[in-house]
Amino acid sequence: MRLETLAVHAGAEIDSETGAVAPPIHLSTTFQHGPACEEIHGYSYIREKNPTQTRLEEAMAALEGGEAALAFASGMGAVCTVMQSLEPGSHVIFPDDAYTGFRGLYREFLPHWGIEHSVVDMTNPAKVQSAIRPNTRIVLAETPSNPMMKITDLAAVAKIAHAAGADLLVDNTFATPMLQRPLDLGADIVLHSTTKYCGGHSDVQGGCLVVKSRERWSAKLFRTRTIMGAAASPFNSWLILRGLRSLDCRMERHSSNAAKVAAALESSGKVERVCYPGLASHPGHELARRQMKLFGGMLSIQLRGGRDEALRVTSRVQLFTNATSLGGTESLIEHRASSEGEGTKVPENLLRVSIGLEHSDDLIEDLIRALE
Ligand SMILES: *Cc1c(COP(=O)(O)O)cnc(C)c1O
Repeated sequence: MRLETLAVHAGAEIDSETGAVAPPIHLSTTFQHGPACEEIHGYSYIREKNPTQTRLEEAMAALEGGEAALAFASGMGAVCTVMQSLEPGSHVIFPDDAYTGFRGLYREFLPHWGIEHSVVDMTNPAKVQSAIRPNTRIVLAETPSNPMMKITDLAAVAKIAHAAGADLLVDNTFATPMLQRPLDLGADIVLHSTTKYCGGHSDVQGGCLVVKSRERWSAKLFRTRTIMGAAASPFNSWLILRGLRSLDCRMERHSSNAAKVAAALESSGKVERVCYPGLASHPGHELARRQMKLFGGMLSIQLRGGRDEALRVTSRVQLFTNATSLGGTESLIEHRASSEGEGTKVPENLLRVSIGLEHSDDLIEDLIRALE
């Protein structure tokens, strides 16, 4: 089956008891077992698994082309579960431009767990190669990255990781499986903040890991999730599953809108730089063309002038809402350096933009007017 069809049908089996077309939400925290605690129905306690979550996991595994998936309470819950499943003394390589929560993870928590880390510019695979240590277990890539929209060559980095006996973990939140399938390019685990495009409506929090090999990762991650407790709720699983049904249509519109906004901003001459991998001016454009179907709905702009000019624009937008997060139907704008706070490397003149599903002309008019 093609990806667009899977997005609609994966995990959507008709409910065998009632014939319900929309999946039921099972809120039960516990499931009947036998007299000696034998599992009868395939479930026992909610923190391990529940039927609504199982449907979501089937759908995510099918969309990413993995052997198994695990749903989590949040994207951070998902990535922390990978780190918690590593042996002390392991080494992890992170990208220099990435989701800000990763910085908190490697600065404040990994040292306590005895896990070493390096931070490198992954647009240059040679830098990943030189950061490899004998104890490197995970190379984490994020492409396109937050907020500089850097593109990483996943096939090249996968080869480097595998030659060192490490696994490649790819944060695919910005692209989603509709636009990029990291497991096909050599990755071992895909990470999602399903809070973003998969949920798609700014009303649900979730995370997911999809693994290429059930044997290599599934049991370890399942055990870590069960004991550490970052499990998804049934209701959130249901909302994310519902989001997946329209993911393909939404990603097409997010991408075509973002391409138009990026082109209009670039040709307006009002900004110093537009970072969007769909623009020929983007240094990762050719690579993005090879490994992505479309370029997604995220972009960032750098203004002429510094922080003051950036804040002038965020205070003048009308249609765009000043808010963090991304991937919803409505367009959002954010002064990312303020959002990330102390220790951020994001330029003060940068605004991160999540392009929604509105008419592109309304979005362009709002931004151009705010820039005047
Ligand atoms: C939001 C986000 C995360 C973290 O996910 P939460 O669901 O907020 O915990 C991780 N990676 C990327 C790229 C994100 O945008």
